[in-house]
Parts: sequence; structure tokens; C-alpha cells
Amino acid sequence: MAGEPEADCLFCKIVTGEVPATVVRETETTVAFQDINPQAPCHVLVIPRAHYPDAAALAAAEPAIAADVLREAGQVAAERGVDGTGYRVVFNTGTGAGQTVFHAHAHVLGGRGLQWPPG
Ligand code: 5GP
Repeated sequence: MAGEPEADCLFCKIVTGEVPATVVRETETTVAFQDINPQAPCHVLVIPRAHYPDAAALAAAEPAIAADVLREAGQVAAERGVDGTGYRVVFNTGTGAGQTVFHAHAHVLGGRGLQWPPG
């Protein structure tokens, strides 16, 4: 059923604690943790606890939780002190855009100059 945990999903396992992660914030609906391969001094992933394969699927099924993810991304940026200089919230969607984990997640990137357009 939509939103139910998937047995072979890495981020579902981070939600349950089966796979360890450095968690920086948690809410009833979201978990935020350090990316294992950081691309910036601040690189945190914000995920819904519920399993949806990408941000569009999450927003279509659970718009309130999608809003929770966005709000938490802002909270992470503020706690990390990157909100003043600017930061980026990225939802890679689809393999062609670089998505490798098919559980919706926001990358919160900051703490260095960020180029535009992205690669
Ligand atoms: P995507 O490429 O799907 O947009 O982002 C997936 C992110 O998950 C990547 O930035 C990758 O470094 C991160 N990642 C992959 N495996 C793990 C893991 O086991 N733990 C953590 N904390 N991050 C992971």
C-alpha cells in the first residue's frame, strides 16, 4: 500500500534504525540525517518516514508531509547556519537526474558557493 515501508529500501531501514545514520532532526513525519558522502560542508537528507519513491509521488499522495519535508529542510539550514549565505534544496527525481535511492528525499546543501546551473 502507498506509504508503507518497503523491505529492501535503504531509507526505510534508516527510519527504523536497522541501518545506522547520524540523525540531526526528527519529527512525527520526517527524519533528517547526514549524507554519507557529503558534497558540501552542510549536506543533510530530509526524508518522510512513509515510503514514496520520489518527491512527486509524496506530494501527490501526502501534500502535508511534503510540506513537512520542506519545512524541516529550512530548519536544518537554520540550525547549520547556512540560511544566511544561501543554501540549496534538491529533489533528484529519476535516474537521469541522479536519483539513486527511490525513497523521497530532499538534499539540503550549503556552506560553500553553489554554481548555477547545476551539473
Ligand atoms: P540521490 O542520488 O538518490 O538523490 O541521493 C541519495 C543520497 O543518499 C546520496 O547523496 C548518497 O550519498 C546518500 N546515501 C546513500 N547511501 C547512504 C547511507 O547508507 N547512509 C546515508 N546517510 N546516506 C546514504
